[in-house]
Amino acid sequence: MTIFDKIIARQIPANIVYEDDLVLAFKDVKPAAPTHILVIPKKCIPRIAEAQPDDHKVLGHMLLKAGEIAKKAGLEQSGFRLVINNGPDAGESVPHLHLHIMGGRSMAWPPG
Ligand code: 5GP
Repeated sequence: MTIFDKIIARQIPANIVYEDDLVLAFKDVKPAAPTHILVIPKKCIPRIAEAQPDDHKVLGHMLLKAGEIAKKAGLEQSGFRLVINNGPDAGESVPHLHLHIMGGRSMAWPPG
C-alpha cells in the first residue's frame, strides 16, 4: 500500500480538493509552486509506463479533471503546468500514478 493508497483510504490526512469515483485530488504536502495539487487514480496504476489500454478512461478523466481543478484554482489566465514523473531519472518518488498541477509562478523550460 503506497502513501497515496492510504490517503484514498483516509488512513492519513490530506487536503482534498476534488474527489469522484475514479480520481482523488489533494494539495501536495511539499508544494513546489504556490498552487501544487496532485491528481491520482483511485485504482493503483504504479506509473504511466505501466498503464494498460483499458486504463484509457481513467487517464483521460485525470486530464479533464486537472484542467477543471486548475481553472477552479484561478490558474486559467496565468497558466499552469501538468507533470507526470516516471521512474528514477524523472524523480518519481511515489509508485502510484500522479499528475502534478503546478501554477502561481513563472516556470522555466526545460525543467531541471
Ligand atoms: P513525484 O516526485 O513522485 O513525482 O511526486 C510525489 C509528490 O508527492 C511529491 O511532490 C511529494 O511532495 C508528494 N507527497 C509525498 N508524500 C505525500 C503525502 O503524504 N501527502 C501529500 N499531500 N503529498 C505527498
